[in-house]
Amino acid sequence: MFLKRLDVAGFKSFADAIGIEFVPGVTAVVGPNGSGKSNIADAVRWVLGEQSAKSLRGAKMEDIIFSGSEGRKPLNVAEVTLTLDNEDQHLPLEYNEISVTRRVYRSGDSEYLLNKQQCRLKDIVDLFMDSGLGREAYSIIGQGKIDEILSSKAEDRRKIFEEAAGVLKYKTRKHKAEQK
Ligand code: ATP
Ligand code: MG
Repeated sequence: MFLKRLDVAGFKSFADAIGIEFVPGVTAVVGPNGSGKSNIADAVRWVLGEQSAKSLRGAKMEDIIFSGSEGRKPLNVAEVTLTLDNEDQHLPLEYNEISVTRRVYRSGDSEYLLNKQQCRLKDIVDLFMDSGLGREAYSIIGQGKIDEILSSKAEDRRKIFEEAAGVLKYKTRKHKAEQK
């Protein structure tokens, strides 16, 4: 599994639709302060189902919609699509390419799509759980994350290893079953 493409429109500073193609090897994003580098990582985390506006550096979810700039009106919708190569079937779906889309409107309505079909947030979270990618995974190491790992409680640290070992999915299901 690897990232193929990221399409962003109306998300944070990206008023115009942009597409980033990831080629094999390392991709570095460079640019002056405030040019939107971190917003790209935020877009990846958001499309994978991030629910915390704070971790996306906003106060409320609406803050991720382009809020206007000089000579440019605010937009009413933000959309991000992440396309992954799944030829190795790392994600348990029988598609060689998987795209995940999230859309949010200023009204608060939001939509998730898997390969252009509407789905629930839960479908996306389940699909990526234990894959090493999802919103809870450690494929995105944000500023401060290392400190958090070093200083967190033993139980919290254990979660990191469980995610890496691929057992978090079963623990989460067990926990949900016990609640019923
Ligand atoms: P640094 O090098 O300082 O880390 P960066 O390239 O990572 O900078 P970002 O934090 O990605 O920059 O981008 C910040 C910019 O995004 C700011 O100029 C901010 O105004 C803009 N921005 C954030 N949210 C929105 C929004 N909803 N609408 C318009 N612009 C936004
Ligand atoms: Mg930054």
